[in-house]
Amino acid sequence: MIEVSGLKKDFHVGEITVHALKGINLEIKQGEFVAIMGTSGSGKSTMLNILGCLDKPTAGQYVLDGVSMGELGKNQLAGLRNNKLGFVFQSYNLLPRTTALENVELPLFYNSKVKAKERKERAIAALEAVGLSDRMYHMPNQLSGGQQQRVAIARSLVNDPVVILADEATGNLDTRTSYEIMSLLQRLNEDGKTIVFVTHEPDIARFTTRNVVFRDGHIIREEMVKDRLNAAEMLKNLPVEED
Ligand code: ADP
Ligand code: MG
Repeated sequence: MIEVSGLKKDFHVGEITVHALKGINLEIKQGEFVAIMGTSGSGKSTMLNILGCLDKPTAGQYVLDGVSMGELGKNQLAGLRNNKLGFVFQSYNLLPRTTALENVELPLFYNSKVKAKERKERAIAALEAVGLSDRMYHMPNQLSGGQQQRVAIARSLVNDPVVILADEATGNLDTRTSYEIMSLLQRLNEDGKTIVFVTHEPDIARFTTRNVVFRDGHIIREEMVKDRLNAAEMLKNLPVEED
């Protein structure tokens, strides 16, 4: 699904050049749930932004679903982003003055083949998939952090992407809510979705199928997750906080 080779990314700020990625080789197969790990500043977000075609590499190859990204122009990249990819961010990135439903519909506005009726139906189905069909007309500020993140996941699903890319998606959430999000992502992955999940938290990475560890712009370690944790099971065993 994803093939990256010799990938480099430099940032130029004033006279300073930052070598954020220094030659990354990485292959991700369809159906994997990969955690990109590493300390702050190791290059995780830079990597994810390139995988999401939000940024271009300075050098190297990136092939997504059989298409070589280097050969595409701006409009083609934008089209691919809207049709093939789903994004989830730490701070949810929902539009504040629109309902949950409208937020989820948003990616479909960029697809002229999808008309208003279908757009709404698909958004409702995505909200149902994350267990939030009873919050359709809520504004983001009327939702808890975990609910906002579930709306963001519904938005990432609505165009039926080939890959979901998540950057520190549980970074603002408490333990229980983090497990709820991981449980949802594990379910989507079991249904066949490929997920790339950036996190600096080793505990959270144990819910994924493979861990890839970045340090200073390099991959320093890669391993399949042994004794993978099941988030739904762990939620059952968490003590219920008193209200
Ligand atoms: P992580 O997500 O692992 O914390 P990042 O990928 O955000 O790390 O950053 C990697 C390095 O690249 C850092 O040293 C950071 O300062 C630098 N960097 C990231 N984005 C930019 C940018 N837009 N402009 C300049 N430098 C950047
Ligand atoms: Mg980051």
